[in-house]
Amino acid sequence: MRIADPATVAKYETVIGLEVHVQLGTATKLFSGSSTEFGNPPNTQTDPVTLGLPGALPVLNRQAVAYGVMASLALNCEVRNFSRFARKNYFYPDLPKGYQISQFDQPLAEHGWLDISVDGKTRRIGITRLHLEEDAGKTIHDGFQDSNRYSYVDLNRAGVPLAEIVSEPDIRSSDEAVAYLTELKQIVQFVGASACDMEKGQLRCDVNISVRPWGQQKFGTKVEVKNMNSFRFIKQALEFEIGRQVAVVEAGGVIPQQTRLFNVQTGETVAMRSKEQAHDYRYFPEPDLMPLIVSEEWKEEIRASMAELPAAKRARFVSEYELSDYDAGVLTLTPQTADYFEQVAKGSGDAKGAANWVQGELAGALNAAGKGIEDSPVSAVQLGELVRLIGDGTLSGKLAKDVFAKMFGSGRSAAEIVEAEGLKQISDTGELQKIIDDILAHNQKQVETYRGGKTGLLGFFVGQVMKATRGQADPGAVNELLRKSLG
Ligand code: ADP
Ligand code: MG
Repeated sequence: MRIADPATVAKYETVIGLEVHVQLGTATKLFSGSSTEFGNPPNTQTDPVTLGLPGALPVLNRQAVAYGVMASLALNCEVRNFSRFARKNYFYPDLPKGYQISQFDQPLAEHGWLDISVDGKTRRIGITRLHLEEDAGKTIHDGFQDSNRYSYVDLNRAGVPLAEIVSEPDIRSSDEAVAYLTELKQIVQFVGASACDMEKGQLRCDVNISVRPWGQQKFGTKVEVKNMNSFRFIKQALEFEIGRQVAVVEAGGVIPQQTRLFNVQTGETVAMRSKEQAHDYRYFPEPDLMPLIVSEEWKEEIRASMAELPAAKRARFVSEYELSDYDAGVLTLTPQTADYFEQVAKGSGDAKGAANWVQGELAGALNAAGKGIEDSPVSAVQLGELVRLIGDGTLSGKLAKDVFAKMFGSGRSAAEIVEAEGLKQISDTGELQKIIDDILAHNQKQVETYRGGKTGLLGFFVGQVMKATRGQADPGAVNELLRKSLG
């Protein structure tokens, strides 16, 4: 396949619009009482509605609507007072009813936006709509190499509630696409509408992309790359498509409107179907469900109960805790991290120290142990106590790291470990002076060399004191006392 070189690509502007499916975090399905839990044996979470048995009627899950409203408000959408479900008809083995219940011309919410920041530039990306729909089941194809081919259908996922969030074609690069997705995911996670666990398929994305020569008003023909579930692959697919489309246009060709699939092995997209093969879904209003009415009161109740959004939290962390934009960004990546940090900051009374410890030692240890912050063996209260012990001079930074490692391994508190192992920092000048006198007496030659002008030897003496105190001497006090004694 021909891919245009970067110089040629630079003559074109990229236009991207994203359709994101987010699984709403309800315990049960959108129209039935079956569990939405992930990873159970196939077809153990079905019921007459999920199976599409004749006569079974859907009943709308109120919590799914609440989550949809939350996500809509967080994305600055106008939530419609009146919306409607519609049947989207198509045949596939993982869709027993022969249609998906979705929303069509009257979606739950419209006209939203979110701000992204790329290379220090902030841009507002429009959100066309957010609508509710049910997920389909899963088809697993097996044995393609043999004559024994099987396809299996698992309906556990069928009927799980989704919000589809459609962006305007406002995105202009693969970096902006990733920034949009990152921000969207974070917002939805913060309001608690979805955990957005991509490994469990809770956030999936169809990417629409076209190119046009700079300055041209009219959009190029879009290609849709379906069903992406990794930001890295989305970026790769977009980069590939940009190069491919520019090469076609440069060669005088036309881009046919197509649906394509991304091949993770080759890093390329391949045509799946063209516009002519596109489905005619024969949408019509779902006769088994009443129109959905979201009252002004309910909407405001949901708005009032919503958690602080990521952008507001970042701004607050900068003003309230005097963090850098960078630190505030890292510490608000997930609501769990943000809550943890705030507890450490409050417990220790040292926000900067808390920020350093959460991003440094704690993040490193969690990473190495393959744990999330919510499963940290060191609680936020315990880390707060440790940071406080550094602030009040009980522990040096070096000792605190040793104590932290022991806390992480045992779940014991800092105070317990300091007490049990006699790890307290030695700041008592009388005690330190005795040790220093002893060291100087035993290293007369080095003392003379130092007094002869080789003051670089100070480090040697500090090292000796640290050795003698098993690293527990207060480094500031040691330096001062040594300088006096040697001077
Ligand atoms: P369809 O009816 O084919 O689904 P829509 O108009 O609903 O198309 O748009 C689907 C998605 O494609 C939206 O996210 C939209 O922003 C995006 N999109 C529309 N036109 C273009 C284009 N020319 N280039 C890139 N993306 C586009
Ligand atoms: Mg579409």
